Amino acid sequence: MCSILVTGANRGIGLGLVKKLLSNETFKVENVFATCRDTGKAKELMELKKHPQLHILEADLVDHGSFFNLASQVSNIVKDKGLNVLINNAGISSKFTRIGLVKSEDLLNQFKINTIGPIMLTQALLPLLKTASEKNETSTGVNKAVIVNISSILGSIAQNDQGGFYAYRTSKTALNAATKSLSIDLKTNGILAVSIHPGWVKTAMGGANAPLQVEQSTAGICNFLNNINESHNGGFYDFEGKVLLW
Ligand code: NDP
Repeated sequence: MCSILVTGANRGIGLGLVKKLLSNETFKVENVFATCRDTGKAKELMELKKHPQLHILEADLVDHGSFFNLASQVSNIVKDKGLNVLINNAGISSKFTRIGLVKSEDLLNQFKINTIGPIMLTQALLPLLKTASEKNETSTGVNKAVIVNISSILGSIAQNDQGGFYAYRTSKTALNAATKSLSIDLKTNGILAVSIHPGWVKTAMGGANAPLQVEQSTAGICNFLNNINESHNGGFYDFEGKVLLW
């Protein structure tokens, strides 16, 4: 039984992941920590409160200084079992732009939320991930410790054949670089790190024309998570576990 934290859990893919995890369909979860910016505006997430495994916490990804307080709230619940899985899901994107319309504030904002937020949150939660890894020395994957960065195919340099999207692409490419470093730095701690592209999904970000429903994407991600082991460490995958080019 593992404990999992998902950021950006009040809507879209994050909310879908929380629902999937609470269903225990793929693997058994002891605690699901669902973070959102404002519980007062997270109606659908709050309706799930009846699940005893669910803990709803507030976290704004731009408020890096608050992450240690968040970590201590998680620690008070998991105690000496630690946190097995961190899913850095929260993210933003802006409209497609060619180079002429790129704005520095947009670049900075997307880096703050899509790249710096996940890196600093990982740092704050690292002691809890290490504890889980140490406690489950003979296990692997979600039963030990895994960091999942929800990235995007738009962060792939190899598969960029349309240009544009400067802020989103570069922030996700940088997140992928962080995944790789985490996979190397934390290997001796037994903590795995992967980047996952969730597919093009019908959410506020993905839009109405996206071919995938949230349920399809999150079912795929949970199946893949269930099978993650050392061979996946430091890789970039789609929601079904297919290897993607960086
Ligand atoms: P949504 O726009 O539906 O949801 C984004 C989530 O991120 C919301 O919960 C939002 O919270 C949260 N968020 C935004 N800014 C912050 C912040 N400053 N602090 C904390 N949380 C924040 O997006 P999706 O569910 O579609 O996307 C989830 C992830 O999947 C993202 O990382 C995205 O880049 C990635 N992705 C999505 C694709 C798609 O097709 N949908 C394709 C490829 C990747 P709030 O409600 O408070 O704004």
